[in-house]
Amino acid sequence: MPDIAANIISLKKQIPSSVKLVAVSKTMSVSDILEACSTGHRIFGENRVQELLSKKDELPGDIEWHLIGHLQTNKVRFIAPFIRMIHSVDSFKLLKTIDSEAKKIDRQIDCLLQFHIAQEETKFGFSIEEAVKMIESEDFRQISFARICGVMGMATFTDDMNQVRIEFRKLSGYFRELKEKYFRQIPGFCELSMGMSGDFVTAIEEGSTIVRIGSIIFGNRS
Ligand SMILES: *Cc1c(COP(=O)(O)O)cnc(C)c1O
Repeated sequence: MPDIAANIISLKKQIPSSVKLVAVSKTMSVSDILEACSTGHRIFGENRVQELLSKKDELPGDIEWHLIGHLQTNKVRFIAPFIRMIHSVDSFKLLKTIDSEAKKIDRQIDCLLQFHIAQEETKFGFSIEEAVKMIESEDFRQISFARICGVMGMATFTDDMNQVRIEFRKLSGYFRELKEKYFRQIPGFCELSMGMSGDFVTAIEEGSTIVRIGSIIFGNRS
């Protein structure tokens, strides 16, 4: 049995205070999450809407929930009232849906644009060309309740830290390019979400502002 409280405390000592830790609690039980909460930690990430909804009401109301996995447009309305940040905006269609659901309830929702930086084919995300095309489009100017706060990406699942570093550096370059070209006047565009259990040290060295970590805290998922 992993000592969840001890793990989170020791992990926080390895992360600079300027970097936000999202504790990834997908597949973990309510009691596991409560144990993490006992340390005072209140930022958690889930990748499935149904699972998030089923656990949320049994947990402290002051938890900041982050959605980190692929999101279907028909699920957005269920999380719109409370979600703190959606890291996984991977299409214009999804961004528009988030914006319209947010508008309905008069709430701004923080979003990150997810980029495909890994070698694996299966991972979701924009290419830089797709993102630029979206941002320069007429429709994009109508987006006002979905607040774009930065970018997110996942590196290839590999032990080759040199490759991981190259991919994080690429994402960091996209972040700076978009900031410079399109979001210079928007101080809220400031987040670079990258780094998981196996690669967070490299991610932080490459400029990450948010790390999303599950296994180190909760143990391996079965
Ligand atoms: C599961 C997951 C994580 C955390 O992975 P660990 O290797 O357990 O730290 C981070 N980001 C996303 C998008 C995930 O799906």
